[in-house]
Amino acid sequence: MNNCIFCKIVKGEIPAIKLYEDDLILAFMDIAPINFGHTLVIPKEHHTSTATIPENVAGRMFRVGARLGVAQKRALEADGYNFHLSDGTVAGQVVMHAHLHIVPRWTDDSFHWNWRQLKYESEEVRNEMAEKIVKAFKLSSEGEEKE
Ligand code: 5GP
Ligand code: ZN
Repeated sequence: MNNCIFCKIVKGEIPAIKLYEDDLILAFMDIAPINFGHTLVIPKEHHTSTATIPENVAGRMFRVGARLGVAQKRALEADGYNFHLSDGTVAGQVVMHAHLHIVPRWTDDSFHWNWRQLKYESEEVRNEMAEKIVKAFKLSSEGEEKE
């Protein structure tokens, strides 16, 4: 994509501190980290949404992401790491080139995800919702998802 900042990083048109690169994916340091060491993993090919990323590329992102999380623990003495992914503006996606965040975590890092926990009105409501999602899931097969 012409004006995509992450495509420009892939092409070397703007600088980034790269941590890992292969034929399919690239990992680099986030410019404004949640915690120091915060890393992004992206497909080299432009995908606005994770929904269109082929399985082999998505698998590579997840696998390398986990290795980078372990590397953060070893190198930075982090206690754990978060994977984070925003798909869509409403979900908080700002850069419209799909990316996986790897955020190192320390026991005392004073960062709290705003994670709420709702309760379903009833079991029926929950089950109906599950059935609807499964039905929609069956309609889409691998690689057919539309952005
Ligand atoms: P999003 O909110 O879309 O999930 O996350 C976008 C991330 O990209 C943010 O964490 C932001 O700091 C990072 N980011 C935005 N522009 C650049 C850039 O030019 N270089 C790097 N390395 N990271 C960037
Ligand atoms: Zn792009």
